[in-house]
Amino acid sequence: ELRRVERALLSVSDKTGLIDFARALSRLGIALVSTGGTAKAIAEAGLAVTDVSDLTGFPEMMDGRVKTLHPKVHGGLLAIRSHPEHQASMIGHGIAPIDLLVVNLYPFEATVAAGKPYDDCIENIDIGGPAMIRAAAKNHNDVAVVVEASDYAAVLADLETHKGATTLTLRRKLAQKAYSRTAAYDAAISNWFANELGDTSPAFRALGGSLAETMRYGENPHQWAAFYRTPEQRPGVATARQVQGKQLSYNNINDTDAAFECVAEFDPDRTAACVIVKHANPCGVAEGGSLLEAYERALACDPVSAFGGIVALNRKLDVEAAKKIVEIFTEVIIAPDADEEAIALVAAKKNLRLLLTGGLPDVRKAGLSLRTVAGGFLAQARDNAVVDDMELKVMTKRQPSEAELADLRFAFRVAKHVKSNAIVYAKGLATVGVGAGQMSRVDSSRIAAWKAGEAAKAAGAPESLAKGAVVASDAFFPFADGLLAAAEAGATAVIQPGGSMRDDEVIKAADEAGLAMVFTGHRHFRH
Ligand code: 5GP
Repeated sequence: ELRRVERALLSVSDKTGLIDFARALSRLGIALVSTGGTAKAIAEAGLAVTDVSDLTGFPEMMDGRVKTLHPKVHGGLLAIRSHPEHQASMIGHGIAPIDLLVVNLYPFEATVAAGKPYDDCIENIDIGGPAMIRAAAKNHNDVAVVVEASDYAAVLADLETHKGATTLTLRRKLAQKAYSRTAAYDAAISNWFANELGDTSPAFRALGGSLAETMRYGENPHQWAAFYRTPEQRPGVATARQVQGKQLSYNNINDTDAAFECVAEFDPDRTAACVIVKHANPCGVAEGGSLLEAYERALACDPVSAFGGIVALNRKLDVEAAKKIVEIFTEVIIAPDADEEAIALVAAKKNLRLLLTGGLPDVRKAGLSLRTVAGGFLAQARDNAVVDDMELKVMTKRQPSEAELADLRFAFRVAKHVKSNAIVYAKGLATVGVGAGQMSRVDSSRIAAWKAGEAAKAAGAPESLAKGAVVASDAFFPFADGLLAAAEAGATAVIQPGGSMRDDEVIKAADEAGLAMVFTGHRHFRH
C-alpha cells in the first residue's frame, strides 16, 4: 500500500511554504509540473519545473479558466495503476502518472469577504482546481492530494520515512480533507449566490433541513419565513398530519411544538394530560382521569391566557374532550390520534387546526437544539433530563408527604418547559400559577403567586390556589426571597435544583417557614 511518488503537480494560489516544499520534493527526486504562476515561483527559486502547458500541448487560456482541464492531467490523476486497461490507455495516449497533487484554490471566500464586486467573485470561482482535487481524492489508492499548506510537513514526513513513498493511511486522510475542502468551497459559492439573490434558505438547508413549506410571514408580518424539516423522525409538529384548519403560522408551529413536547412528558399509560400554551409558555398543565378532566383543570389555571391558545393532549382525542375544547377560541389541537367522532366534531370549527402525530416523542431521546445568533448559530443537546430519573434529596427538616412529592415531580416536569426564570405552582397534579420569563427569580415567584390568586377568583374559590400548593423552580434560588415569596403565598413544599452559594440560607428559610424542600441536582434553564 506504499506508493512511490515520481511526479507531482503543483498549482497553488496561496504560495505560502511552496518553495520549501517544492525544494524538499525535488531533493527526493520527484519531478515537478506546475501551472503558470506556481511554475514561475518555483523556477525563480532555481528548481527544475515543467510547465503544465508543455504537458497538455495547450496554452493556459481564457484568463486561466482553462489550464489543467485536459486528459493528460486528469488521466494522470485518475488512472488506476494496477489496471491493465488503464495502463494501456496511458501508454496509448502518452499520459504520464501524477502521484502527488498539491492544489489550493482561487481565494473565492477571501474575495467575497473583501467585498469585491460581482465579476471579481465570479472570476475567483476555481474550476480546474476542484476538478483535480476531486480526481486525485477519488484515486487516493494511488495518488496523494494536498489542499492546505499546513499539511506539507506531514506529507514530507511520510515521504521521508518511506523513501519517497506515501502510505495509504495518509492518502485516505488527505482524500477526506480534500472532499471536505471542495464541499466547503461550493457551499461558500452557493451561499454567496443566495445572498446576492436575497435568499437565505440555503443557510437553513445547510443545517440538514429540507423545505417543508414557506409561510405567509414570520413572527411579524414584515418577516419572511419558511418551515424546514430535518431527517429526525420525531412525532411532533414537523411530522404531524394536519386533518383540518387554516395553514399553520410561524408562531403556531413554534407554540405547538412547545405544547406537544411538554405533554409528551406525561406517560399516557399512567395518566391523561393536557398542556395549553400561549407564546411558547404553558399557561395551564394538568393530569386527569380523562382528557376532558385534564383539559378542564389545565384551563382553570389561567382561562384568560388560554383564549387563542394551543391545546396538546397525550392521548387519542375523544369526543368529550373535543366538545369542551371547541367551546372557546383555540388555534391548534395536537394529539397522537383522534376518534372519528371527535374529528367530525372539530370539523364544525373550520379554522381550528387539528394535528395528529401518530404517537408521542421519547422525551429521553438525545437530539439537537439549534438557535441563531448574529453571524452564527448555537447547537446543543436537547434537554432530555426527566425528573423521574433524578435522585431527589430532601433538604429540610420536614419530609414532603406522598401527595406533595407527586405534585413536586409534576411541577418540576412542567418547569422544564417554561421559559426561565420559571416558577410553577401546582396542586393535585395541575398547575395553579405559572411565572415565566422574568429577569429575576423573585419576580417570577411573585407573578406565579399572583396568577394563583387570579385563578382562584376565576374559579370563585375563597382563597388563592397557591394555598397548600407546591412550587417548582427551574434553577436554584439565589437568595431566600423567592422562596419566602412562595411560603407567604401559602406553598407548603418546594422543588429546585439546589447548588446556590447560599443554599444554607435558603434551606434555613425553608425550615423556618415549615416548608419541605427537595433538590433535584438538575437545572432546566430554557431561555
Ligand atoms: P497559478 O498561480 O499557478 O497560475 O494558478 C494556480 C491556481 O489555478 C490554483 O488555485 C488552481 O486551483 C487553479 N487552477 C488550476 N487549473 C485550473 C483550471 O483549469 N481552471 C481554473 N479556473 N483554475 C485552475
